[in-house]
Amino acid sequence: MNLEFSDEELAFRETIRQWMKANVPDDLRRCTARGAMPGKEMQQRWERLLGKQGWLTVTWPEQYGGPGWTATQRYIFDLERASAGAPPTSPFGVAMVGPVLYTFGSAEQKDRWLPGIRSGEMLWCQGYSEPNAGSDLASLKTRAERHDDHYLVNGQKIWTTQAHWADMMFCLVRTDSTVKQQQGISFLLIDMKTSGIEVRPIYSIDGHHHLNEVYFTDVKVPVENLVGTEGMGWTIAKFLLTHERTTIAGVADTQNEINRLKAALAAMPDNYDKHQAARRVAALEIDLMALEYTNFRTVAATDEGKPFGPESSGLKIKGTELQQSVSQAMVELGELMSLPWDNEEPIGNEVFNRASRRYNFLRACTIYGGSNEIQKNVLAKMLLGL
Ligand SMILES: Cc1cc2nc3c(=O)[nH]c(=O)nc-3n(C[C@H](O)[C@H](O)[C@H](O)COP(=O)(O)OP(=O)(O)OC[C@H]3O[C@@H](n4cnc5c(N)ncnc54)[C@H](O)[C@@H]3O)c2cc1C
Repeated sequence: MNLEFSDEELAFRETIRQWMKANVPDDLRRCTARGAMPGKEMQQRWERLLGKQGWLTVTWPEQYGGPGWTATQRYIFDLERASAGAPPTSPFGVAMVGPVLYTFGSAEQKDRWLPGIRSGEMLWCQGYSEPNAGSDLASLKTRAERHDDHYLVNGQKIWTTQAHWADMMFCLVRTDSTVKQQQGISFLLIDMKTSGIEVRPIYSIDGHHHLNEVYFTDVKVPVENLVGTEGMGWTIAKFLLTHERTTIAGVADTQNEINRLKAALAAMPDNYDKHQAARRVAALEIDLMALEYTNFRTVAATDEGKPFGPESSGLKIKGTELQQSVSQAMVELGELMSLPWDNEEPIGNEVFNRASRRYNFLRACTIYGGSNEIQKNVLAKMLLGL
């Protein structure tokens, strides 16, 4: 594998760099520079802009509106996007349900749902986890009973990120309780405005509202919103989870975090121990480089038609561990500046002021997308045959 960019790739990088420079909105750039997360309006405004340019769904095949880029071009795009101060796109439409629809959906479903995802108009959330079905997802209990032309859905989902933003949910439901657990699960698309849906907020340890509980009471869902056939939900869920795990590696954004940390350290006064900090940052960058090559190799293989395999579990584990290590370094190297002060004005460097919030949020990254312990089980089973 050649890791040097060709002349054409360098020219492509320049095009993306210039576009980002001209188009990433200032308020968004300022938001990510502070280490904050954009709200719905800011995030969607950015995604619509990418959609207009045809760059929101860069991983999609051309026939469904992807730009036809190589893995290297997508990788360059991601690096440029992050270093221009733009956040990653919300994964639920673009990286999750989109690939499900163009792989398993009917022609009508593709026509109906793909355009809204491609343009950034339609926001999605993922209804998988339930209070007693997280790692053991196959034991989920939310029921969907068939009545003529619709299903009646009853039950509860939890930890549903952005359910309060979403227009639609892709949801795993139980359509048959008489067969083996995995065979009784189906994949339904649910309009979040349907009567009988209640979304309740869960505030997380970083003080933000990202998460929700979602309750369903006699929610009517048209049968044409079933993807695949009844009982096919588990196959679709597994397909989708490998996509989710690969995007969670977050190489470009971790590089951006390290860059922010380096800039903040460079601005520290002379009596600060910069040598010790530099050693720590160097160790993080070496780990990131190893992850970057592994990620790139995996993504490049998909260009040759190979499906994501157990590598996605390895990427998820290493990627999230590294995100946590970088956020921990940010807190520790910022010393007193990283304490969660409640001041209007920044104390010292603002990068450090927000570090503890991000550190707190990132405790969750080794849990979501399937916990890292479960990923280790997957690797042991698929690679070692244990
Ligand atoms: C910030 C955040 C966002 C999320 N967003 C979404 C979302 O949008 N949609 C959605 O559907 N879900 C979402 N989730 C839920 C997430 O997928 C689950 O939290 C995760 O799958 C773990 O399930 P659980 O919380 O029920 O923990 P449990 O499954 O109860 O696990 C508890 C602990 O036991 C360990 N464990 C469990 N089983 C095993 C085993 N067999 N071997 C070894 N260790 C084991 C786990 O690793 C974990 O440490 C989100 C979670 C978080 C924290």
